[in-house]
Amino acid sequence: MTQQAPRTAIVTGAARGIGAATARRLARDGFAVAVLDLNADACEPLVAEIASDGGRALAVGADVSDERAVADAVARVADELGAPTVLVNNAGIIRDNLLFKMSAGDWDAVMGVHLRGAFLMSRAVQAFMTEARWGRIVNLSSTSALGNRGQANYSAAKAGLQGFTKTLALELGKFGVTVNAIAPGFIETEMTAATAERLGVPFDDFKKAAAAQIPVQRTGRPEDIAHTVSFFVSEGAGFVSGQVIYVAGGPRA
Ligand code: NAP
Repeated sequence: MTQQAPRTAIVTGAARGIGAATARRLARDGFAVAVLDLNADACEPLVAEIASDGGRALAVGADVSDERAVADAVARVADELGAPTVLVNNAGIIRDNLLFKMSAGDWDAVMGVHLRGAFLMSRAVQAFMTEARWGRIVNLSSTSALGNRGQANYSAAKAGLQGFTKTLALELGKFGVTVNAIAPGFIETEMTAATAERLGVPFDDFKKAAAAQIPVQRTGRPEDIAHTVSFFVSEGAGFVSGQVIYVAGGPRA
C-alpha cells in the first residue's frame, strides 16, 4: 500500500455478495472498514473474519434510505473507526416486473435504496472528505443502466447513479475527492440467484447461459468488482474521476 495513514472506508450492503468481497478487499488493502448493512448481526461474521486476518472492521446496521439512520451510522463510524474518506455505495435491491405489472411501491423501493441511499450516504460523508481534502466515492451502477427487460425501476436507478457520479465528480474534485461508478454485468450473488429463481431456471443453467453470451465466456465473481473498487480508491487513481467502468467480461453484458 502506498498511502501513509490508515483510512476509513464505508461499504454499504456489505453483509454479502459484492459488498462483502469489497469490504474484505479494502481491509486487505489496509483500510479500516465499516461493514454496513440493514442488519448489523449479518455483518458480524465478516467483521470477525477481517479482525482475524489482522484488519480493523466495524459492523453497522442502517437502512441507507433512512436519513436519520444514515446520519447516526456515519457519526458512529467516525467515532469508532475514524473519519470516513472512502465510500462505496453498493447496497441494492431488485423488484423486477414488466412495466404494466410494476407497482408504485416497487418503483419507490428501488429508487429509495439505490438513488436516495447513495445521495444520503454521500452527503453525510462528504463533510469528512472535504475536511481531509481527500476522498473516494464509488457507486455501483449496472449494465442494466443500458436497458433491461423487466427492470424499468432498476435500470432507471442505475442510469441515474451514472449522472449522480458525474455531478459529484464536478462538485467535489476541487477537494481532492474522486467519484466514479462501476457497472457490473452478471455477477454470481444472491441477487442473480433470485433472478434465476423468479424465471424458474436452476442457477447453474442460468449462469451457463449467461456465460455463453459473455466475450470472456464466464460469469463474474464479487472479487472482480472488489478489484475494480480497489483501483478506484487507491492513491494512484486520483486523476480518474467521473468515470463509469463496465466490468462485464466484454464491452457490455
Ligand atoms: P446482494 O447479494 O443482494 O446484496 C445486497 C446487500 O445490500 C444485501 O446484504 C442487502 O441486505 C443490502 N441492502 C439492501 N437494502 C439495503 C438498505 N436499504 N440499506 C442497507 N443495505 C441494504 O446484491 P449484490 O449482487 O452483491 O449487488 C451489490 C450491488 O451491485 C447492488 O447495488 C446491485 O444492484 C449491483 N449490481 C449487481 C449485479 C449482479 O450481477 N449481482 C450486477 C450489476 C450491479 P439484506 O440481505 O438485509 O437485504
